[in-house]
Amino acid sequence: MRSIKEMLAANHQWAQSKVKQDPQYFIRAAQEQSPELLWIGCADSRVGPDKLIGLPMGSIFVHRNIGNLFATNDLNSLAVLEYAIDELKVPNVIVCGHYGCGGVHAALMHSGTQPVDLWLDQIRFIHHRHKAELSALDKEARWDRLAELNVKAQVHNICRNTIVREAWKRGQEVNVIGLIYNIHDGLLKQLGLEFSSQAEWEACYG
Ligand SMILES: [Zn+2]
Repeated sequence: MRSIKEMLAANHQWAQSKVKQDPQYFIRAAQEQSPELLWIGCADSRVGPDKLIGLPMGSIFVHRNIGNLFATNDLNSLAVLEYAIDELKVPNVIVCGHYGCGGVHAALMHSGTQPVDLWLDQIRFIHHRHKAELSALDKEARWDRLAELNVKAQVHNICRNTIVREAWKRGQEVNVIGLIYNIHDGLLKQLGLEFSSQAEWEACYG
């Protein structure tokens, strides 16, 4: 485990190496941000978005929580979506789940009244809605499939939100995309979830 002193030393080294490679690096980085995507992902320490897709600093507006949820009653999620779309005008909103998600596993295995249990209730409801499909699978496959269904549900929550619907109505480019990350091979997989207009979304969910 690294001490705070070691972390600060590593930070100092990193900042110096950036300037050495490119003297303008922090001058550019300090200018107004103009990210190309909003990333809604899991708080899991293995799934940091800039590492996964190799974009430079300033490219991704990030929102992460346990289980990569977009909860429509969560002011934090709503504020992030509103700011990303209405102010930053990001053209892409990516919901990224991952296999081996501890949040999905916890929702599958038990329920309770602790904050994490309450937060994960939404995944329990998804499990309940798809019980017939999921109960036919073995334990590992069920865990993976529920992670995929969870991404689908979050994409749905975003597309039906007023912030996105209003943006589509006024002709603003907003692509809502669902992906899943495989922690075993480092690869992102598409889930057939890409919506760029109200009509596209309604054709699937309407
Ligand atoms: Zn996770």
